[in-house]
Amino acid sequence: MHASSAHSAPELLAHADDAGPAALAPEALTRCTTDVRMKHAKSNLQILVVGAGAIGCEALRALALCGFRNLVVLDRDTVAESNLNRQTLYSSADVGASKALRAAQAIKERFPGCTIRGYWASAEQMPVAFYRAFDVIVSGVDTVEARRWLNTVVFHVVRPVTSPNCAVQSKYLPVLIDGGLEGLAGQVRTIRPYETPCIECILDLFPDEAGRQPLCTIAGTPLRPEHCIHYAQAVLWPARDDQAVRSIDPENPEHLEWIYTRAQERAAAFGIEGVTTALVKAVLHRSVPALATTSAVTGAACALAVTRLVWGGSHAQCPWTSFHGSDGLYIDSIFIERRLSCPVCGPGSAVAISVSKNMLVKELIELLERHPVLHCRSPTIVWDYRPVYMSVPQSLKAATSPNLERPLSDIFISDSHPKVPDQVVLSVTDTDTRTCKTLHLFLT
Ligand SMILES: [Zn+2]
Repeated sequence: MHASSAHSAPELLAHADDAGPAALAPEALTRCTTDVRMKHAKSNLQILVVGAGAIGCEALRALALCGFRNLVVLDRDTVAESNLNRQTLYSSADVGASKALRAAQAIKERFPGCTIRGYWASAEQMPVAFYRAFDVIVSGVDTVEARRWLNTVVFHVVRPVTSPNCAVQSKYLPVLIDGGLEGLAGQVRTIRPYETPCIECILDLFPDEAGRQPLCTIAGTPLRPEHCIHYAQAVLWPARDDQAVRSIDPENPEHLEWIYTRAQERAAAFGIEGVTTALVKAVLHRSVPALATTSAVTGAACALAVTRLVWGGSHAQCPWTSFHGSDGLYIDSIFIERRLSCPVCGPGSAVAISVSKNMLVKELIELLERHPVLHCRSPTIVWDYRPVYMSVPQSLKAATSPNLERPLSDIFISDSHPKVPDQVVLSVTDTDTRTCKTLHLFLT
């Protein structure tokens, strides 16, 4: 069924019910109601959930409950018995099985209309091109390093939104939604590339991952039992006479006992209570207690962030949702600015240029060399993981030099791109400074 531009909004809704939102004509979608756009998004949005742990399980379930139909889940871990209290897609029969595969199976069984694939692999094992297929990536990873890696990948595969059919209110895709837990607190950050702060912009706001406290507090005036444990770990352990054992093994009972005894002594000297073997173990493991409630709220907030992308509205400018469960229930949305000096999304990290399709590759290189932002010297240009021109090493320079005389319309055609595209995303590396920039090249 084809919806003409004469249809009113209620008629569009009726047509959507008959034929499905995917059947709507582009001109209808540009003027349709948010309800129709949401239906379109539920059927068409490609969503990847990275991590099928506490946040991932809840995000998958909430996304399926919201009606999103195209899901992919990625996780390298297997289900452990200790996961079962808060990773609610698994049962004791799943212990030892792949989290991603079991999570996909559980969603399939509960939501038969949902198309979901599971990949038993780490995020780093997947080719970067894999991430290009998604409109939204929900991250439930548990380290800052994994977040930074995923953030960089998003900016590697980022593409401008040119279609009026796009249901997501973002200028670039994919959008990264990052969920995180710390004790009774949860955070959800929506990263719309080049519009809201990326992970690298807000790196200072993440807790110290090594679990280290400021040394002046540890050595000077400890306030909490954790400070005493850190003192025993960071100051007393390295100063022991017995240097045969260098690093602490949190699973070694003798090491635990040694740290516990020294931490107890220090705590007693400062009148601090609460040093226990369980706390010593938690501090040494750098583990943070997690509750099923916190991960359920945070996972659901990730799914809510996806629906917000479709609805748009006032929350778009407050990309950080924070949940605090220690003193009752408190949820807040925070506005944070992008960091202009950010090496991933700051100005100058991505540049857009409009050129003729007939421009030769050598002319493009001349343009890059005199561009006021790029100032490239000996640029190397890669498109879709294929070299367009490599200035080093000599062998690749010789192999790609024939491209210099070819027009761009000839270069950007392949089996997977049979037509000259309107725009391409290039990686341009300055061979002298070894810096890489993303170039959005619009072909006219
Ligand atoms: Zn940034």
